[in-house]
This record gives sequence, C-alpha cells and structure tokens, in this order.
Amino acid sequence: MTTTTDTPTTPASRAAFPGGTILGYPRIGRRRELKRAVEAFWAGRTDAVALEVTAGALRRETLQRLVALGLDPEDGSVPGSFSFYDQVLDVVALLGAVPARFRDLIDDEDGSLDLDGYFTVARGRGEDAPLEMTKWFDTNYHYLVPEISETTPISFADHRIVREFAEAQEAGITTRPVLVGPVTFLALSKAADDAGEGFHPLDRLDDVVAAYADLLRALAAVGAPWVQLDEPVLVSDTVDAPAERVDAAITTAYRALATELTARSDDDGLDAEAERPAILVATPFGGLTTGASEGAGTTTARDGLALLAATDVDAIAIDLVKGAVPTGSGPDGTVPGLATKTLVAGVVDGHNVWRADLAARFDRLVALRSLGAGALAVGTSTSLLHVPHDADDETWEGPAADRAGRSPALRRWLAFADQKVREVTVLARAVAEGPDAVRAELDAASAAVAERAAAAGVVVPAVRERLTALTEGDFARGAHDDRVAAQRERLGLPPLPTTTIGSFPQTSQIRTARSAWAKGELDDEAYTAAMRAEIARVVALQEEIGLDVLVHGEPERNDMVQYFAELLDGFATTDLGWVQSYGSRCVRPPILWGDVTRPAPMTVEWTRYAQSLTARPVKGMLTGPVTILAWSFVRDDQPLADTANQVALALRDEVRDLEAAGTAVVQVDEPALRELLPLRRADQPDYLRWSVGAFRLATAGAGASTQVHTHLCYSEFGEVIGAIDGLDADVTSIEAARSRMEVVPELHAAGYARGVGPGVYDIHSPRVPSVDEVTELLRLAVGSIDPDVVWVNPDCGLKTRGYAEVEPSLRHLVAAAQAVRAGL
Ligand code: GLN
Ligand code: ZN
Repeated sequence: MTTTTDTPTTPASRAAFPGGTILGYPRIGRRRELKRAVEAFWAGRTDAVALEVTAGALRRETLQRLVALGLDPEDGSVPGSFSFYDQVLDVVALLGAVPARFRDLIDDEDGSLDLDGYFTVARGRGEDAPLEMTKWFDTNYHYLVPEISETTPISFADHRIVREFAEAQEAGITTRPVLVGPVTFLALSKAADDAGEGFHPLDRLDDVVAAYADLLRALAAVGAPWVQLDEPVLVSDTVDAPAERVDAAITTAYRALATELTARSDDDGLDAEAERPAILVATPFGGLTTGASEGAGTTTARDGLALLAATDVDAIAIDLVKGAVPTGSGPDGTVPGLATKTLVAGVVDGHNVWRADLAARFDRLVALRSLGAGALAVGTSTSLLHVPHDADDETWEGPAADRAGRSPALRRWLAFADQKVREVTVLARAVAEGPDAVRAELDAASAAVAERAAAAGVVVPAVRERLTALTEGDFARGAHDDRVAAQRERLGLPPLPTTTIGSFPQTSQIRTARSAWAKGELDDEAYTAAMRAEIARVVALQEEIGLDVLVHGEPERNDMVQYFAELLDGFATTDLGWVQSYGSRCVRPPILWGDVTRPAPMTVEWTRYAQSLTARPVKGMLTGPVTILAWSFVRDDQPLADTANQVALALRDEVRDLEAAGTAVVQVDEPALRELLPLRRADQPDYLRWSVGAFRLATAGAGASTQVHTHLCYSEFGEVIGAIDGLDADVTSIEAARSRMEVVPELHAAGYARGVGPGVYDIHSPRVPSVDEVTELLRLAVGSIDPDVVWVNPDCGLKTRGYAEVEPSLRHLVAAAQAVRAGL
C-alpha cells in the first residue's frame, strides 16, 4: 500500500486547488438545446458537423455562464463535464471498449468511435441491442452499462476530452476535465457475453489504468492544471464486486495514475516535465466512511477517505450532504495523508433543489479543519446534473404559477444549478476571508430558511396530528384468508383472471386535448367530454377482447407522479425544471415542499364513469407513496419516512373514496420501491421498514372485499424481494416475459403466497407475441406455483405502445388464458 512517505512531491509544489467548485453542471441546456440538436441528428435532419457546432456553442455558453456566476476562469474551477449522451458511455468511447457486436463501428487506425457510432452503441441498430441502461447510484439518472471481456479493446482511443479542454482554452477558460474514474467504470461494467467463466471486468484494471495514464499525459501536454475522476463506487455497498476488491483497485489505480506519473511542479503555465494534471477524486452520493455494517452475514467497515488519503492524489471531494463529517484515525482525529491534499467539502446539495442555510454549511466546513487537510475548498455534494438549470427561468406569479402551486415565497427557498454555483462562491469567500466578508449573503440565506420553516403550508397542524395519532392497526389489513374469501365472492372471477397494468396507448388526440386544456384553450366541459369518450372506447375494447378486470386507461394522466402532484397540496410543478433522465430524455420532477393534503378526490370521477359503463370490475389506479417521493424533489427538513406517510394518508383517503364509489379493485403502483434503496447496506433495513410501512398505510384502510393490487415494473428484485411480501397486497404484478417467468418461483421461495401477475407480454418491444408464446409462458408460471394465485397480464402499462400492437397482443393474451384454463 502506498503511504505518504513515498510521495515524491510536497504540498507546496502542487497546483493549488480552487477555493470553490462544482462537481459538474447540467449539459442538456437551459431550453433543452442539446436534446433538440441530438434528436434532429438522429432523425437525419442535420449532420454531425451541425451537431458539433451546436454542442460547441452550448459548451461555450455554459462555461461563460459559470464564470459569470463567480467561478474562476483560470485555475480549473470550471468543470468540463459535457456529454452528448452519457458520462459512462463517454468512457466506453474514450477507451474504444465497445462490445463485439459493435466493433465494426470502431475506426481501424485509432480505435475511436465517431458520433454516429457513439449513438449506435447507445441506441442499438436492428438486431444489435444497445448497451443496457440502469440507474446511476441513488439518482433517477440512467447510465449505459459497459460490457467488458478479456478481449475488449482498451486504449486511449478517443481524444474528445483533450479537444474540449483546448476548445475552452481558446475561449479563455481553463477547465477541469471531469470523467468517471477507472475503478467506478469497471465496477459498474458487466461481463460481456464472450467473457470466460468467472471473469470480472475489474480483471482489466491494468489496461484501463494504462489508457487513463495516456489520457492524463495528453491533458498535461495541453496544460490542464486539474482533472476530476469520479469514484462514487467508494460510497456504495451495492455494486457487483466485493468491497475489498474495489478498495484494492482504488489503491492500484491511483498508485499508477498519481504516484507513478510525474505531477506538475508549479502552479502556472506549461510544465514540460509534467506527466499528469493534479488529480481530484470525487466521491458523490454518500459518506466515505462506514462503521461496521452487517452485510450478508459478514461485518465490514469501509473507510474510503483513509484509503484515498493514503494515495498521492492531490484533492478529494466528499459528500457532506448525505455523508457525515468524517473522523480520522491519526493524532487528534486527523486523517493520515490528508496534509498533502485539498479536501473539497461537498456542502451544497447537488441532488436536491433547496436553498442552503449557508451559515450552517459554513459551520460544517469549519468542523472539517480538524481533519488536518492541507487545504479546504468548497464544493457541491454531487454534480449539478441532477437539478434543473435556473430557478429564475420559472414564472413565479400569476394564474398559471398559482395553478402549479408555485409562489414567490417558494422561489426564495429554492436553488437550482445556477443558484448553487453562487452558494459555492459565497462559501468559498467565507472560508478564504472569514464569514464577515459575506455576512449579507449568509443572513439572507438564513432568513429564507427561517421563512420557509414558518410558512403556511409547510407545517399543517391537522396533518401532523393525524400522523401522530397513527397506531399499528392503521398499517394492517385483516387476515389474508378472510380477504380471499370475501373477494372471491364479490368478484366472481374465473381462474387465471386477465387484466392490464393500467394505461392504454396515449394517442395524439389524447395528448392534444390534454395540452389544449392545460393551456386554457379547451374548457373543462370539452376536456371532460374528450376524456370520457376515450374511457368509453377503452372500456368497450376491453370488454370486446374479453378481459376480466378492466381499467379506465389513464388518458387524463400526463405522468403517473406529476398527475398526483398537481392535485395534492404541498407540491409545486415547474414549466422548465427539466432534468436529464437518460440520453436525450428529460423529466420535470415536481417539488414536494409542504405538508401533503388532498383537497378533493383525484381519480374517483374517472373511475366511477368507467365502472358505470360495464358490469365487469374496473380497477382504481393510484401511484404509491414511495414512487411519488422517488420521482419528485422532496423537502429536506424532515425524515423521508414522515413525508412518505403524509402522501400515504392522502392515498388512503382516495382508496376510501374509490370504495365508496363502488370500486372493488384498487391498484397502487410502486415501480420505484427498489430505486430508493440506500447504497449502504447498513441503511437498507430502516428504508425497507418505512417504505413498506407507507404502502401499507396507503392501502390498509381497504375493506376485506376490496382487492388491493400493486405493480412493481421490474423482475430483478434483489435486496427487496423479502419486502414484497411485506406490502401485503392481494395481487402483485411484475415484469417476467423477458426472463421467462423465472421470478415466479423466486417470489414463491421468498415466502410470497398471494396473487401474482407475471407479465406474459413484453411491452418494451413492438413485437406482437403469438398465442402459443403466451400460452407457453403461462404454462411455465402455473407449473411452478399454485394456479389459483396466478393472474394474466402484460409486463407494464401500454401507454408507450400503439393500438396496432396492443390490440392483437391482448387478444392473444386472452386466448392463451382460455387455453390454459381449459387444461387446469
Ligand atoms: N399504471 C401505470 C401504467 O399502466 C404503471 C406504470 C409503471 O409501472 N411505470 O402506465
Ligand atoms: Zn411497470
């Protein structure tokens, strides 16, 4: 292991780290310019040259804005964090490390990918599936999963990062190139199909590190003072590699990159001897240090800060929003090795939208002095990629703002990316010159935080009293056997009942009507008539196809979370608060700012209308509390568990009203249950306790004869499989078509014994499954568990599909159910 005594340089010889910085900035553009440009290129409306020009202009504008907001243009404060699609795919391109099926896209000479090739790996072509997509740590951002084997080409193939640094230099701004670090890259990769038995992508660490070393040499040659390598793998226990292996890889990688390459010897100008820029390793999304934690029977303690401090990297960025102030093992609680490094304190939340109490954050910064770092700098906890660009872009007054729950007061409590850059620069001045230098800014921030705490709607006494009065009984339904009997009698369904997950295709007429209504161009009456006509059509179609439990089709919902956020008090929605979800796709998460109440029923009239058209049961359709939280920006002034229970109580009232309107089946979707699972194993049991509790609180008010369904989207339950039983739903529908029903016996083995609807129709593909295919899948399901509990449904909602595929697919599904029923 490297120790500081091996260090060839002293602190004084290193480039000084900027006083304040951000770990990254949104790249999609304030008006989603990059999305438009990339989509125009995909559609063939523009060429690669035009796309490069637009992207170059956007990059320049971004850098200039960051300087205008107060970041230093000369010392590497300004991050170079642009990406055309995804930062993990960027490393795939950097290394030329594409899977075998895409190798023809690679340039024979230098192994690089052109823009067309880059997007092809992201989006697939014909039979060649794109790289898989999965969630980036605990965010709603999705990255592409690299596929690595023994033979994947790996070299310093693509020089885009160096070109972008030079391009910024020409515009007068010295950036700090930002990229995913080598260990995180490999730890998040999966073994490619052609990999041998037992291969792990980390087996290729030396090759990847050698390529990064070449990149660092190239950056040093063009005069880059700093480079940022993101290693969030250090804060997570949930990656597919043992912690010891990850930690050892960090030591190996940074010995090669930091110790074995000669660092710059002065602060300014080119240094002919230098083989690398100064290195900042960033560790967003959680604390670097854990106590002993229970992991699958073993007890592990990880100290990522000690690990990094023992390398020769020049600066370490830590997340002090999710993570606690660490303690060191050296004299007086110092961290051995930190004296030669800058500690970049991520005290400004990069992952949420609240204005910071700057005075309190300053106190946190001061507390870090005891760690004995060579210097202290101010940073964001994560890249600002996860928040919208600028709160000042939004309209905060007027009827439209009122309808969206936005007010000038709320504006004062918020900080989007641009506001956060300012917060960083204020705190950096406080560190450099003392808090008095920025007293006015600190006071203004404290006043805003105090205003928020006391504002009407933030604390609603009636909501608090209701929460306090909850008892265990509020979280529990009656015995399952009694429910089964009561529901059987009330519903009278055949074996293997057929249903769908809720939404039907959202046709352009529906979208047009909804947006005309939102803009005030269509009055309430005309809008209601249009939605009712659609509901009537969808109900008639389902009857004709022969489904057993019907849905109203969700035509009135723009999005399964935003719809509820618009109807509940305590939420605001935005017009321009876009955040990149993956590639060119952006979402506008609602802002949950206050205590949650339900001024009026939200879904009852639509469901009641649908039920009035048919004698078959129509499912009421709600989004669960955890999913509503996961896809919103949530208040940071109380435990998530309390906020979840508030949303649950509003949903509980909705369930009661649905029941009163005659609804016999209610589905509460929780596709995000697994998404919010904490990265640290030690934190998971508590999360599962409150998240499962919130679902139960939302549903346990239902009478025994009301059948409660839930839908969980995915099929790989991992750590949450035990929790599914805890939800106590009568029926759980899940994705299963692609994995050929594997999940059915898995659920059964985990103790789940109630109704299960494994998806028999993969809605992610436009393919229409044949009756035979669906029959075969169904036979697999009834072969592995009691046929009495099996439901027949698609994998997920149908809103993204067209009727041309949906109609025949559902007919085949019903025919298959009939065929299998006949053989029971
Ligand atoms: N009820 C929703 C629908 O059918 C569920 C969507 C989801 O699981 N993501 O669209
Ligand atoms: Zn789904």
